[in-house]
Amino acid sequence: MAKMYYNGDINEGTLKEKTIAIIGYGSQGHAHAQNLKDSGFNVIVGIRAGKSFDQAAEDGQEVYSVQEAAEKADVIMILLPDERQKAVYEAEIEAALTAGKALVFAHGFNIHFDQIVPPADVDVFLVAPKGPGHLVRRTFESGAGVPGLFAVYQDATGQAKDLALAYAKGIGASRAGVLETTFKEETETDLFGEQAVLCGSTTAIVKAGFETLVEAGYQPELAYFETLHELKLIVDLMYEGGMATMRSSISDTAEWGDFVSGPRIIDSSVKDRMKDVLTDIQNGKFAKEWIQENETGRSKYNAIKQAESEHQIETVGAQLREMMPFINEGKKAKKEVVTS
Ligand code: NDP
Ligand code: MG
Ligand code: MG
Repeated sequence: MAKMYYNGDINEGTLKEKTIAIIGYGSQGHAHAQNLKDSGFNVIVGIRAGKSFDQAAEDGQEVYSVQEAAEKADVIMILLPDERQKAVYEAEIEAALTAGKALVFAHGFNIHFDQIVPPADVDVFLVAPKGPGHLVRRTFESGAGVPGLFAVYQDATGQAKDLALAYAKGIGASRAGVLETTFKEETETDLFGEQAVLCGSTTAIVKAGFETLVEAGYQPELAYFETLHELKLIVDLMYEGGMATMRSSISDTAEWGDFVSGPRIIDSSVKDRMKDVLTDIQNGKFAKEWIQENETGRSKYNAIKQAESEHQIETVGAQLREMMPFINEGKKAKKEVVTS
């Protein structure tokens, strides 16, 4: 088994002496900044004026412009959208990145695809939680954690690995387990996971199931419960105990249907196309097209986003969720605790 790092394996002494700048206060940024602060680290936030700036201030963070935060900090964690990182790095961070500082990422995209080329005399590493930012915060508050990866790309000070592990501990990742990787492995597997399984294929299969039922004349509300709502309940069981736990909870009829019909839908041709998707990630085609899409005004991205938001599963779902306020109760309660 690969070496896993847990809280007891990690000494956070070196990082405790540093000032950590969290650049960006979005999904990951708000979680890292608050978790690190609660873990006793010196945290400042670097962000442009606007919604995130106001939120960070409201959460009691010490907030600066990106440039000021980069100047003040020893460890600079970039939690901006991947496609904006290069421009912000060049305009506001690069000049402040003096020898011995550390440049940190939560995803290897910009380093791996040569968008950001850091100077040789700084540490460069990544700490990537394997979960959405809001859960990085929510699980931390409940005493648990989201597992994470770390990788050292450049070790100018000899401390990069210690700093990375301490950072992972500070955000709560080593409560669940932290695994060492490389920028290449993290970048390629993260992109593959979100495209081929977690986000891309999951939304596609949910929509296909919903449409199949609705086109066959079944009620859209029922189709929503059957294909989207219940998916969470099924996935929760897989999260708790793998496929066996999920299958032990469903009826034998459902399990038999799983065995015989699952492979009719997800047949070997799916794996062939997954390999094609992986190839495009590995050879840089996906990254090149995404960078181009951003440089040319995101017209394709915006059109697809708009069409997706108008899909019947979204409109029906919004109505049904209004009648299930308990779905979001946990989130609201947490927010009240945080801001009170
Ligand atoms: P978000 O899109 O949630 O956050 C963006 C933040 O960056 C916002 O605070 C936004 O502020 C700020 N921002 C955007 N543009 C600028 C700019 N030009 N100057 C200053 N601030 C700016 O990002 P994520 O948290 O999703 O992603 C951050 C990193 O974490 C990425 O590398 C991503 O791959 C990685 N990651 C993300 C995961 C996730 O759960 N989302 C999971 C694991 C890794 P404003 O409010 O002003 O727009
Ligand atoms: Mg990702
Ligand atoms: Mg990911």
